[in-house]
Amino acid sequence: MSYFEVIKSDSRTSARAGVLKTPHGEVKTPSYVVVGTDAAVRCVPPEELSRTKTQLIIANTYHLWRTLEERLETFEGLHERMRWNGPLMTDSGGFQVFSFGFGREHGMGKMGRVFPGRKLSSGTGRSSSPADEAALRSRPDKSDKNRTSSSSGLRELPSDSFLPGSKENLVRVVDDGVYFIIEGGEQYLDAELSIHIQEKLGADIIVAFDEPTSPLHDHAYTKESLARTHAWALRSLAARTRRDQMMYGVVQGGAFEDLRKESADFIGKQAFEGFAIGGSYGESMGAPREQMLSVLKWSVPYLPREKPRHLLGIGRIEDVFDAVELGMDTFDCVIPTREARHGSIWTAHGRFDVRKGAFEGSKESIEEGCECIACGEKKITRGELRELFKLKNLKAGHLATVHNIYFFNNLLEQIRKSIFESTFSEFKKKFILNIS
Ligand SMILES: [Zn+2]
Repeated sequence: MSYFEVIKSDSRTSARAGVLKTPHGEVKTPSYVVVGTDAAVRCVPPEELSRTKTQLIIANTYHLWRTLEERLETFEGLHERMRWNGPLMTDSGGFQVFSFGFGREHGMGKMGRVFPGRKLSSGTGRSSSPADEAALRSRPDKSDKNRTSSSSGLRELPSDSFLPGSKENLVRVVDDGVYFIIEGGEQYLDAELSIHIQEKLGADIIVAFDEPTSPLHDHAYTKESLARTHAWALRSLAARTRRDQMMYGVVQGGAFEDLRKESADFIGKQAFEGFAIGGSYGESMGAPREQMLSVLKWSVPYLPREKPRHLLGIGRIEDVFDAVELGMDTFDCVIPTREARHGSIWTAHGRFDVRKGAFEGSKESIEEGCECIACGEKKITRGELRELFKLKNLKAGHLATVHNIYFFNNLLEQIRKSIFESTFSEFKKKFILNIS
């Protein structure tokens, strides 16, 4: 059975339009993947999701595993839990290996920064997401003797660099798997268990277990880590018992060209139904954005053309255009949903913070011409939305979220259309110009 079909390829770039076929329906690509970390898209009731043009949702294996615990074996499945009968994806738990581990220790998120002029400090790390932080109910016992050394495998940084707040590494990686340090002990996750959990959750697309590295890791550590990711990819494939789920292999290799190429070549040759490109991008080797583009340029040519390609955790407008241009099909990102809850509104004329005083009493619609529930049906003005945020009314998060999700899904729909009309490059240029 063919799970994916490229229908139209752009003649001037590597952009392509296709269809991903899952047991719960088709996904027209390129497509945004909306994040529903704990089996729910925050602030949006399931019945409204189809009205946001959402095609595919990704849920988080690690958080669901922690939430379900012993109920996992009798779990009814994610589709039922989410009341979403469309295509679903789960990640492998690999990103938490990073966000609780070196991401936390190095003060790194998905797009990290190393700021000059301040020393390595502790206490205000921004590496893990609020959901990640919530999953760790308390700090572990600091007496743990087996904790991964904090200074190993770091690339040399300029002497005036600092990491924007580092915290304790809560992950111990061994060749077989990963120990998460949690309240009262450790919790072990490996390839076999990740696949078992993902089979129980029952998403249409599942992801092989991997170890993302930090952009601060040196070549030696990244190489050593990559060997684990490749071994875990093979173990993930061998652990499968279901055949109705697609499994994506993950390309890693940090910011190193040779390792990225080696990884894409190796992972691309395995019997996965699709491929994901993972990692965290930092400023230790140029800006995060340039680093991500380099990673895609190095990796994509090694991945089979006939299989789908997913970019893990990336999704700003420029990134989406660039990733499509370089041949990626899907992207998941918390930006539309997380930023909406803080008042950031995305539009075709750029992003604005609706909480600002300038919008007080504004009669202007959130986005002229937008057909989302907030703009099209409820006809909410910027002034009204600002007022709701000011009053901490729950409707604020809801309205902002349905708008942002709709905006990104609609953008991807337009990108797809431009590929069919052979105007992708022009569309990209014009759109980027409008938002800058
Ligand atoms: Zn709208």
